[in-house]
Amino acid sequence: MHKVRCFECGADVEDPLLDSCPKCGGLLTIEMDLDAAAGIRPYDLRKRPLGVWRYAPFLPVDASKAISLQEGGTPLYDCQNLVGKMGIKRLHVKYEGANPTGSFKDRGMTVGVSRALELGCGTVGCASTGNTSASLAAYAAKGGLRCVVLLPSGKVAAGKLAQAMFYGAKVVMVDGNFDDALAVVKQLARERELYLLNSVNPYRPEGQKTVAFEIVDQLNFEVPDRVILPVGNAANIWAVYKAFKEWRSLGWIDRIPMLTGIQAAGSAPIVEAFRSGKRDFVPEEHPETVATAIRIGNPASGRKALRAIFDTKGYAESVTDEEILAAQKLLGRSEGVGVEPASAASIAGLLKLVDSGIVSRDEKVVCICTGNVLKDPDTVMHSCEGILKAKPTAKDVRRVIS
Ligand SMILES: *Cc1c(COP(=O)(O)O)cnc(C)c1O
Ligand SMILES: [Zn+2]
Repeated sequence: MHKVRCFECGADVEDPLLDSCPKCGGLLTIEMDLDAAAGIRPYDLRKRPLGVWRYAPFLPVDASKAISLQEGGTPLYDCQNLVGKMGIKRLHVKYEGANPTGSFKDRGMTVGVSRALELGCGTVGCASTGNTSASLAAYAAKGGLRCVVLLPSGKVAAGKLAQAMFYGAKVVMVDGNFDDALAVVKQLARERELYLLNSVNPYRPEGQKTVAFEIVDQLNFEVPDRVILPVGNAANIWAVYKAFKEWRSLGWIDRIPMLTGIQAAGSAPIVEAFRSGKRDFVPEEHPETVATAIRIGNPASGRKALRAIFDTKGYAESVTDEEILAAQKLLGRSEGVGVEPASAASIAGLLKLVDSGIVSRDEKVVCICTGNVLKDPDTVMHSCEGILKAKPTAKDVRRVIS
């Protein structure tokens, strides 16, 4: 069993349809009962294939009824070409683009949609910069639920929009940014129109914990020194923190990596708060960045993210759009790993932090690369060299490639 608790005041929250604390308005979080897991040994988990449901004792829904597309189980690449270029010893990239809909959102959505079915909800919904809606639409299809997604007008990458439409969701573009869309969908949830599956729903981060479990599992329980990930709405860094804490409390690991969040320079309220040593942040009114998945000015889980960063002696840094696009290409062209711009923020952040000496050269680092390059083909085609043209002869092709 598990409990839903207020992150701020600790109150137990009984109503399963709330997205914030009825007493203080605080964020919700789940307290897992780890007694069931205490009886097993880490390597026992390996009887099940690598993936989200390998870690069922750490998930707050009935695994036997899970709505699953075999999410998780993503590669952990040992980036030997890139370390040479960066001057560090070890770098692994956790490639979340290999999930069923191409982003880490699937880890949370398998748990969230399973929870919606447990509760008997017929319609699920979310506001999204793209990947959440792509993922929710797919899992709603698998679970036989109606799905409504609200997208900010104009700024959604083509691949993500296509996915939401393809899986049969009702796709609504609202005239505003992500923060506006989230406010509207929250109201619809309060009016019982739909079950809210944004990451303020505490069941989603529970599924997202599994990216941290997999990293440790794939490294044979050797804990990295640092884990770097992009921060948008800020639930994922919290999920990663929660995962490490749960395993430490069982004695499966003896320390927690320094959690390091990277934001885009035009959209960096968490970085601002971190720089001034504060555990609360001031929203950015006009978030701007090419990395649309992290183009969020008022991160719903921002306070959780700051706790994760401060409690692990981690760091927060911002990177420019130019740095993001350069890092995206560097990863693709030195390791063959294609990620979307937001995901490349983690690599861009690592480069910057190695340069500034915050990350020392002998650290073992894992960068979580959150989404697939195919999500945003327009940005890629704008940032790459043009296409060569030739007559249909070997001679002319030789001319243009020389
Ligand atoms: C959602 C998303 C993020 C941001 O994750 P948060 O939990 O909102 O901080 C980063 N990258 C990609 C590709 C995403 O889809
Ligand atoms: Zn509270």
